[in-house]
Amino acid sequence: MRNTLGYRRAMDTITRFAPSPTGRLHVGNIRTALHNWMLARKAGGRFMLRIDDTDAERSEEHFVDAVRADLAWLGLEADGEERQSARLALYEDAFQKLKDAGRVYPAFETQQELELKRKIQLGRGLPPIYDRAALKLTEEERAANQAAGLAPHWRFRLDHEEAIGWDDGVRGAQKFDAAQLSDPVIRRADGSWLYMLPSAVDDIDMGITDVLRGEDHVSNTAVQVQMFTALGATPPAFAHEALLVGREGKLSKRLGSLGCDAFRERDMEPEALVALLARLGTSLPVEPIAQRQPLIDSFDLATFGRAPAKFDDAELERVNTAIVHQMNYADVSDRLPAGMDEAGWHAIRPNVGTVGEAAKWWALVTGPIKQPSFSAEDRAFLAEAAQQLEWGDNPWAKLTTRLKESTGRKGKALFLPLRQALTGMDHGPDMAELLPLMGEQEARARLAEA
Ligand code: GLU
Repeated sequence: MRNTLGYRRAMDTITRFAPSPTGRLHVGNIRTALHNWMLARKAGGRFMLRIDDTDAERSEEHFVDAVRADLAWLGLEADGEERQSARLALYEDAFQKLKDAGRVYPAFETQQELELKRKIQLGRGLPPIYDRAALKLTEEERAANQAAGLAPHWRFRLDHEEAIGWDDGVRGAQKFDAAQLSDPVIRRADGSWLYMLPSAVDDIDMGITDVLRGEDHVSNTAVQVQMFTALGATPPAFAHEALLVGREGKLSKRLGSLGCDAFRERDMEPEALVALLARLGTSLPVEPIAQRQPLIDSFDLATFGRAPAKFDDAELERVNTAIVHQMNYADVSDRLPAGMDEAGWHAIRPNVGTVGEAAKWWALVTGPIKQPSFSAEDRAFLAEAAQQLEWGDNPWAKLTTRLKESTGRKGKALFLPLRQALTGMDHGPDMAELLPLMGEQEARARLAEA
């Protein structure tokens, strides 16, 4: 087995995110990527992207591009990238090595035969473990099968004598009895690879020290632990996080197709998604933390719970709003409507849930606006306001103080008609900040027009 670890310092943490480019990343994948990124960043190590594209038929190049684009949008830059389709020679080497050691064997059963075996076992109340019939074939029987034109698929032979166990970073001590597992198929009859062996080979070759993935991979890990050993390598540290589910408590279809595009469309900040997913399913509180470093510093597998993590859109929106309220003009200026300056952003920022909503409020500054119809009394009041309006520092404070004295109005009776005449709305950003943005002429005209 080739082992090209020369490029790294021994014991540096190296994690990887290994998506199959058969679709877009969904929120569950994004969470796994983020956690691997944080694990590496916290340790001062490396985070690798590995494209699991051995399935040539289902893998599509535009999905590879989309993975990269999504990671870039999320700010989860990888320190290196490998793709499995470029590494087939390595898998072939490992396969030969395992074959020479008697750890892989050819099998000839068809899908239907295997299905039938499973049904019979289940019918007898037995676990559907592969019966190793192919392992018991004699050399003559194998040769006869091949001569009859049957191409074998290949299984990895688990060592039933070797206890399987690891100290899982999330789940604690894990133990498996190899005899209770099926020898996994690692290669198809057409020579193509299933996920299991290439992943173990790459984890060894890329020097991966920590494999952090979803708990749906626990039984794969049990098998892969033996592959690492059979290939003469020490298995990496494993951690399996509980899966992400919808608020209803199920891994819904919707969640499985919820990805960066949908979040971008809803104008969610990547920082909001990161802040939420960093801590969802952990004992740490979800907080609107817009900076990476505090999230990285507090990242700790020991805080991860065993219960499924619940993803709630409303919670994402709350985090997003709180993060938008912390954003500086420089962070958002290229996404604001033309002419909206720093003062505009500061006036409007407390009233938006997303950056995009700023445009709606800014339109009230630039006009035209639609005023409600006012009572005769209010019209007289607003006409007086137009008279009293004086520009300079803090025109709103000056105007309302004067009007309070001259009309005796206060509270809602004082403020609401002014806001309505000036913005057409009965709620919105602080008028003291908004009024100077309108400009004197425009403000006077709106008051006079009422
Ligand atoms: N391509 C595999 C998947 O997406 C990778 C699993 C792993 O992290 O080993 O499920």
